Parts: sequence; structure tokens; C-alpha cells
Amino acid sequence: MAPKTIQMEQRKKIALIAHDNRKPDLLEWAKFNRDILSKHELFGTGTTGKILASELNLQITRFRSGPLGGDQQVGARIAEEEIDFVIFFWDPLEPHPHDVDVKALLRIAVVYNIPLACNRASADFMISSPLMSGEYQRVVIDYEERTDQ
Ligand code: PGA
Repeated sequence: MAPKTIQMEQRKKIALIAHDNRKPDLLEWAKFNRDILSKHELFGTGTTGKILASELNLQITRFRSGPLGGDQQVGARIAEEEIDFVIFFWDPLEPHPHDVDVKALLRIAVVYNIPLACNRASADFMISSPLMSGEYQRVVIDYEERTDQ
């Protein structure tokens, strides 16, 4: 299967999501990194997006709340190449009614080779990468032959 590349612009399209128990951690991280985040286009699931937008005073395009389809909306935007970077602090200690949506989002992020941070250390390494401030050719495996579409 031949790979193809998708261009990531200097201004990344970043989705921010956190489960309830992880929201304080994401908020603290986002406050610390506000200046960097402000240079990018931001998206968020309903409640996460609302909290971050008001606390950081940044514009964030909000989807539905996670349990109401927000995670699926983020996944769809990844497939449509409208989101290219994901920070998702999911809760490893509690089950959620939308666990299948969470799994679907993590899966589609891997399919499209999306930079994906699920904890703070990963988010720290990603956001401080020199690649954040430049263009990047994201290599995506062309699965179409395999899926015969
Ligand atoms: P929320 O959704 O930002 O609306 O809380 C996050 C999630 O549960 O996936």
C-alpha cells in the first residue's frame, strides 16, 4: 500500500478534549501553553471547549458534548482533513457511556497519522516540538486498495 502525504500548515487545526476528571489538568496545561495555542485554530468538544474558551479568552469552535456525538464529530473532521492535531485527555479510571465513540476517535486518529496526546507529558513534548511552527507533510498509509474503495 503506497503512502500519501497530507500537508499540515504552520497554523495547525487542534482539537482539545478532556473527560470530566481530566478537565482541570487540560485547563492548567492549556493556560500554560496559551501563547502557542493562540497561534493555531482551535476546536473542542462541548464542555471542554466552553471552559477553555472562557478561561483562556480564545476562540474555539465547539462541537457537541462528547457523550452527545462530539467525539464522533472530531473523528469526522479528521477524516475530512479539517482537524490535524488532537489533545485528548481521556479518563483511564472510569468507564463512560460513549466509550465506543472514544475508541472510534482514537482509531481514526491513528488511521490518519494524527499527532495525538492522551496525557500531559505527551502534550508537553508535542507542543514544544519545532514542528509546531512549520509546515509538515503527514504520511498517511493509503488503505483504499485494502478497503477496495
Ligand atoms: P465534553 O466531552 O467536552 O463535552 O465534556 C468530552 C468527552 O466526554 O469526550
